[in-house]
Amino acid sequence: MIYAYNSDIICAVATAHGKAALSVIRISGKGSILLIDKIFASTNVNKKLVEQKSHTLHFGTLRHGDEIIDEVLVSIFKSPNSYTGEDLAEISCHGSSYIQQRILEALLQEGARLAMPGEFTFRAFQNGKMDLSQAEAVADIIDADNKHSHLNAIRQMRGGFSTTINNLRLELINLVSLIELELDFSEEDVTFADRNQIKSLINKIIDEISDLANSFQMGNVLKNGVPVAIVGKPNVGKSTLLNALLKEERAIVSDIPGTTRDVIQDVMHIKGIAFRFFDTAGLRDETDDVVENLGIEKTLVTLNEANIILYVFDATTITQNELSQILEELKPYLDENKQLIMIGNKIDEMTTVPNPFINLSDLETIYISAKRNENIDQITERLVSYVDKYNLSSSFLVSNARHYNSIIKANKSLSTALKEFDENVTTDLVSVHLKAALHYLAEITGQISSEDILNSIFSNFCIGK
Ligand code: GDP
Repeated sequence: MIYAYNSDIICAVATAHGKAALSVIRISGKGSILLIDKIFASTNVNKKLVEQKSHTLHFGTLRHGDEIIDEVLVSIFKSPNSYTGEDLAEISCHGSSYIQQRILEALLQEGARLAMPGEFTFRAFQNGKMDLSQAEAVADIIDADNKHSHLNAIRQMRGGFSTTINNLRLELINLVSLIELELDFSEEDVTFADRNQIKSLINKIIDEISDLANSFQMGNVLKNGVPVAIVGKPNVGKSTLLNALLKEERAIVSDIPGTTRDVIQDVMHIKGIAFRFFDTAGLRDETDDVVENLGIEKTLVTLNEANIILYVFDATTITQNELSQILEELKPYLDENKQLIMIGNKIDEMTTVPNPFINLSDLETIYISAKRNENIDQITERLVSYVDKYNLSSSFLVSNARHYNSIIKANKSLSTALKEFDENVTTDLVSVHLKAALHYLAEITGQISSEDILNSIFSNFCIGK
């Protein structure tokens, strides 16, 4: 275990490295405030920090030996009412690298040690200030770069998700005790719980857990960016469209068919939502070019993974036949979670916009000129509305792969329990599966955790968090 369960004094710079207007240094552990008293003198009060109230702010001078290091603000938080649950202080100093270094050196010489990544949050977990899923949400908040992942992380940090999991655990615990009661008296041939009632309870929990599992697809997508595949035959203007969307020339634009050989990925934020665009090699039937074939293979993978497919065609040359063929090709990749939007490009070369889609009026089509930046906003509006239809502001989405895996395992155990219950397998065996489900749910919040899990979660934090 890289993190020790103890309360020795740890310190770290909590703000980003390099020169800045201000910087914050954190110190936590038993005796940490006393330690700062050795190097800090308040300007206004002739009292030591240890004698001051918790949650107070003090202006003064930091010295070490003969050297005046800086004029700083120290905020103090006394155990148990701090982020870590321990005595904790934050020194706001001027953001010079030299000053940060000198303060750390002074703290180390007075008996603190450097904190490991995530160690402050680990202590918060250790001291019961937050559970594991809340601790993970702290890292998610720091990483959040769009509206939805931010909202989701805030909810998780404030315990919304933990409450859901804990309620599910309570329901399961009740269920197990109902079943075990029957077990205790089995010799006497008494049936306590109504079998139908037990069955419907298991089903109810399965439904609730399934909802959480189903939310992962969207939760994960929003955290990492909604994947959008731009596909179409060579030379229809896919790269030009991507450039128009990104408003910068990052993809290679060329007149030679098939030059976008690889899948180009770029992330763009529209109205607070992250979209990941994949410009693909295109779906071309046969080619001898190995590199090109590789590109096509990647296109197929991209199509499978995308939530939105922008199918680009050349509106000046498209025929009804060709369109039917395209749809036939795309069919295997479409399902209810996948949105296909047809993009008719190059309208600048036409006098009137044609309507070749006879009998296909339900196909959503946007006509654009990628080259002249016309109607690109119609595409971005459509992308945003795809996400908005999920009404994300009202529901929590599971976005953490570790949580998702535990949820899936819990659901599997519950389904086995239900199946065995139906098959009249003895209740003690059914109860084993219900307890397994309980175990998996407890992994999410960290009531049950292994060293490996804790190490992998906290070591991904930044130092100072
Ligand atoms: P890709 O192979 O599908 O990625 O196509 P490109 O983006 O490389 O474009 C192929 C050719 O079509 C280039 O010469 C582009 O300048 C041209 N092109 C792309 N978009 C438009 C458009 O809206 N109007 C016209 N007239 N030409 C375009």
